Amino acid sequence: MADRDGFIWMDGKLVPWRDATTHVLTHSLHYGLSVFEGVRAYKTERGTAIFRLKEHTDRLFNSAHIYMMKIPYDKETINEAQKEVVRANKLESCYLRPIAFYGSEKMGISTRGATVHVAIAAWPWGAYLGAEGLENGIRVKTSSYARHHVNVTMARAKAASTYANSIIANLEATQDGYDEALLLDTEGFVAEGAGENLFVIKDGVIYEPEIASALMGITRNTIHTLARELGYSVQTRRMTRDDIYIADEAFFTGTAAEVTPVRELDNRTIGAGKRGPITAAIQARFFELVGGKLPEHDNWLHYV
Ligand code: PMP
Repeated sequence: MADRDGFIWMDGKLVPWRDATTHVLTHSLHYGLSVFEGVRAYKTERGTAIFRLKEHTDRLFNSAHIYMMKIPYDKETINEAQKEVVRANKLESCYLRPIAFYGSEKMGISTRGATVHVAIAAWPWGAYLGAEGLENGIRVKTSSYARHHVNVTMARAKAASTYANSIIANLEATQDGYDEALLLDTEGFVAEGAGENLFVIKDGVIYEPEIASALMGITRNTIHTLARELGYSVQTRRMTRDDIYIADEAFFTGTAAEVTPVRELDNRTIGAGKRGPITAAIQARFFELVGGKLPEHDNWLHYV
């Protein structure tokens, strides 16, 4: 990732990609506290547009607020910087990664005296769980690792420290030949994927698990609207892993994962074992939306 042409926005200006470095004694590297976003920009007929930029930036600032980190820029600057990065790298569609982290002034747990830096990178990134996964669905394994307890880690924040849990769950699942991990909460109820929210469909109704210990996904929020427009309501309830075994359809959502059907959980086929019809309809509408083909949602597209 480090050795490529292009520009990264760092602390207020564009710097050549290879020079966007930080010291090994960076506080965030040692103690794991940085806050970040994953954002996507898509090619549309009216040019490249960043999808739900405002909501992503709001979440970035909320994540920082939760951890008492003061981002030294306003939201407008961070939004404009993201557009600038897409333009400077001449990207038609891409993934964007804004991150705020503590510098290398000091060691020790306290963040007092450490400066906050902000970087924004953008690069082309195809289907996170594979193009084949988008089409035919993926195989998922329930993780032996629980998702964070709400009094251990702040689940509303998208913070790097949360992701050691995601990484270890994903490694466990993928090393056993599955595509992704599903994490339960500490009480054993379904929480979310290692980097995705989950939806299931049963008897024509779309359900999502309670998200107490899950990230409040922006794609998830988008799906609520799209499902309603397609005539479905989304109901939230506590869900067990076997609720998913006996569901008719299931799918993951996320900025990176987009709308990825789940065709199997713990070696049990879900429904017909392929992308189901309601999932297909939602997925198709999602790609129309991000591709700028739903004018009623143009306020979610931020043209660069
Ligand atoms: N849960 C986790 C743990 C994630 O990392 C992500 C990806 N950011 C999501 C859910 C989905 O969130 P979003 O739709 O905002 O990308």
